[in-house]
Amino acid sequence: MNATDTAAIMQMAEEHIIHTYNRYPIVLDHGEGVYLYDTEGKKYLDFGAGIAVYAFGYNNKEFNDALKNQLDKLIHTSNYFYNEPMAEAAKKLTECSGMDKVFFTNSGTEAIEGALKLAKKYGYEKDGRTDHEIIAMGHSFHGRSMGALALTGNKHYQEAFGPMIPGIRFADYNDLESVKNLVNDKTIAVILETVQGEGGIYPADQKFLEGIRTLCDERGMLLILDEIQCGLCRTGSLYAYMQYGIIPDVMTTAKALGQGVPVGAFMARGKAADVLVPGDHGSTYGGNPFAAAAVCKTIDMIESEKLTDHVNEITPVLEKALDELVEAYDFVKARRGKGLMQGIVVTVPPAEVIKKALEEGLILFSAGADVIRFVPPLIINESHVTEMKDKLCKVFNAF
Ligand SMILES: *Cc1c(COP(=O)(O)O)cnc(C)c1O
Repeated sequence: MNATDTAAIMQMAEEHIIHTYNRYPIVLDHGEGVYLYDTEGKKYLDFGAGIAVYAFGYNNKEFNDALKNQLDKLIHTSNYFYNEPMAEAAKKLTECSGMDKVFFTNSGTEAIEGALKLAKKYGYEKDGRTDHEIIAMGHSFHGRSMGALALTGNKHYQEAFGPMIPGIRFADYNDLESVKNLVNDKTIAVILETVQGEGGIYPADQKFLEGIRTLCDERGMLLILDEIQCGLCRTGSLYAYMQYGIIPDVMTTAKALGQGVPVGAFMARGKAADVLVPGDHGSTYGGNPFAAAAVCKTIDMIESEKLTDHVNEITPVLEKALDELVEAYDFVKARRGKGLMQGIVVTVPPAEVIKKALEEGLILFSAGADVIRFVPPLIINESHVTEMKDKLCKVFNAF
């Protein structure tokens, strides 16, 4: 395609799509492994993975074949019937996640909505009240629908859309006292990301998460972990909570779950698993055979490719490369993260860095106001880290 076609595509999109995104002036065309190609043939090393979605990289043959197979059999049926991929995906996901039951959704946001409804119903069954409160965290991100937005600790996202649903209180992440201070007779759940993503890549402290688990046990509250971004091997264990020696009552998962096929899920354990009954919740598409086939293949490949081991091998390589950037440049202040979910804090505008990186053929996203985020496909190897660092050094040298 030539530059005129590319410009025409961008113009067509701008004319017809509601302008909620300031997109980069690049039209992506296809991908292969950890590289993306635009319509003019330019190649990009992708350290964004479609926002922590692609674990196995682009155009993975084994994954694509599984989808093509299902495509020719059955894409959708409605949730009034059974189908095999749905049953299998549910079995695989609950067995590997430590949860008892699952509800499939079409996105992360919808998984949060479901978890929120589950928590409210749990409270209602427990004491009959209809004014329960939920504690969420500052700097959190749980999605853009009215329920998920109400849980998102970012005034900027909420301001124009008030009033928010009532009964949500915000504590400070990694500050157990601030959570304890908000608990009262109405509190029914605490929700947090095991590693905060959009808010700036903050992993939970061991003591904090343990303390919240104990607090929830003592007060009969549900611990809801949002692992939409940090789950599915991203941080070096299948779910990030598994590194903390605790287990949530409810957990949400999405992003990498379908490797690009839109699917999410909320899962529950113990008493929480049986709270929702027919009529309480539903979805036309949720977990349809096509999406479920994607879930099955994702989980199978995580196991067959020994993805957790690979992430743990490559993590120190990425950490070292990023630590060297902190050493080398005054305006790179710190690194933090877990596994292949890392961020560096910069005092130059992240948007400028990202724009210049694109010119160098490197895709990165920001997180929070001052963090450049690294969430590459989980199959990256040492040479990709080196290539990323070389490109980023070129970008940084221009500042
Ligand atoms: C991306 C994200 C969501 C929202 O998921 P969508 O699929 O965009 O609806 C919720 N929580 C966390 C932690 C996320 O990273």
